[in-house]
Amino acid sequence: MSGKGRTKRIPVAVMGATGSVGQRFVSLLADHPWFEVTALTASQRSAGRPYQEAVDWIQSSPIPSAMAETSMLPTDPGSARGAALVFSALDSAVAGPVEEEFARAGLVVVSNSKNHRMDPHVPLLVPEVNPDHLELARHQELGGGAILTNPNCSTIGLVLALRPLEERFGLEAVSVVTLQALSGAGVPGVAGMRVVDNVIPFIDEEEEKMERETHKILGRLAGDRIEPHGVRVSAQCNRVAVIDGHTECVSVKLGRKATAEELRAAWTEFEGEPQRLGLPSAPRPPIRYLDAPDAPQPRLHRDLAGGMAASVGRLRPCEVLDWKFVTLSHNTVRGAAGGAILVAELAVEKGLLS
Ligand code: NAP
Repeated sequence: MSGKGRTKRIPVAVMGATGSVGQRFVSLLADHPWFEVTALTASQRSAGRPYQEAVDWIQSSPIPSAMAETSMLPTDPGSARGAALVFSALDSAVAGPVEEEFARAGLVVVSNSKNHRMDPHVPLLVPEVNPDHLELARHQELGGGAILTNPNCSTIGLVLALRPLEERFGLEAVSVVTLQALSGAGVPGVAGMRVVDNVIPFIDEEEEKMERETHKILGRLAGDRIEPHGVRVSAQCNRVAVIDGHTECVSVKLGRKATAEELRAAWTEFEGEPQRLGLPSAPRPPIRYLDAPDAPQPRLHRDLAGGMAASVGRLRPCEVLDWKFVTLSHNTVRGAAGGAILVAELAVEKGLLS
C-alpha cells in the first residue's frame, strides 16, 4: 500500500541513534506522517540507558519529548522486532555486517554508511536524481529484506546540481572543491584546537567517494546492474569551521554549448520523482538558484525547505572548463538523515516494503 493510503504509521528503528546523523533521524522522524520510531539502538556503551542520558545532544532544537526516556537497545535484529524499516546511522567500522544481518532478518535497511554503497545490487539513491535505480534492490538475495543506501553527504549536493545539467546538455568533466562542515565528522567530531582559525585540507576517503559515487548515481540502470556514467570527476575536500552545510565550488564541461540562462532554467525548472509523487519530505523546488552575488552561504541558506533543498549560485564562465558555480546543501539533513528518509518514502511508494 502507498504511504498516502495508510491509516497506521509504519514502525521504524534507528540504528546509531546517538550520533550526529542518528540525532537528525530522531528529530526529523518525531512528527513524520508515515513513520513511527519504535526502537533506538546504538553500541553496548549506550544500551539500557534512557536516550537523553546516552546521547550527547548537539542539535539546536530539543530532544523530541516522546524519545527522551526511550530505553536504548543494543544493535541486533531482535531489537528491531516489529519494525518494517531500519534507518542506519552506524559508524562505518561496524555498519557493513550489521546492516546485512538486519536485511537477512527481513528488514529494509536504509543506510548512510559507505559499506554497501558500491555493491552491484545495492541502489545508491538520491530520489530526484536516480529513482529508477531502486529496482536494483529487487535483485538482492537477502531473504526478504533489502539494503538501500544514501550517498556520501558531499556527493548528494553535487549530483543534485549536476543532474539537471547532465539531462539537458550532457556532462563531460567536473572539478569540485568542497568546504565541509564539522557535523560531517560525527560526535564529538574535530577538536576545537585543530579547526578554529584553520582549514584542514584532508577528509579521509572523501575525494574517492565523491568520484566513484557520482559515476554510479549518474549511471544508467541496465537490467540488474548500473552502467557507470563516463563523466570525469576530480574532487578536493576540505574541513572548515562551519557547524552544518557543505559548500562546493564546481566547474563543469558540458556535452554541448549552453548559455547562462539555459543553465539557470535547467536548475529552476528541475523536478524529480519525489515532487511528482508528493512525498512528505520532498522539497519544492529541490534546487533554488540564488541571484545574490555572495550566495549561497551555509548560515543563511542551509535550512531552505527544512534543509532538504540544495542551493546554487555564482554562475559564471570558466576559463578552463565551460561554467563554474557554487552549490550548498545541509550535510546531516539532505546529505544524511533527511535524504535517507526521502529514500524510504520512495521505497514505500514504489511498493518495496511488503
Ligand atoms: P557518529 O556521530 O560517530 O555516530 C556513530 C553511531 O554509531 C553512534 O550512535 C554510536 O553509538 C554507534 N556505534 C558505534 N560503534 C558501534 C557498535 N560497535 N555497535 C553499534 N553501534 C555503534 O557518526 P555520524 O557522523 O553520525 O555518521 C554515521 C554514519 O553516517 C557514518 O557511517 C558516516 O560515515 C555516515 N554519514 C555521516 C554524515 C554526516 O554528515 N555526519 C553524512 C553522510 C553519511 P554510541 O553513541 O553508543 O557509541
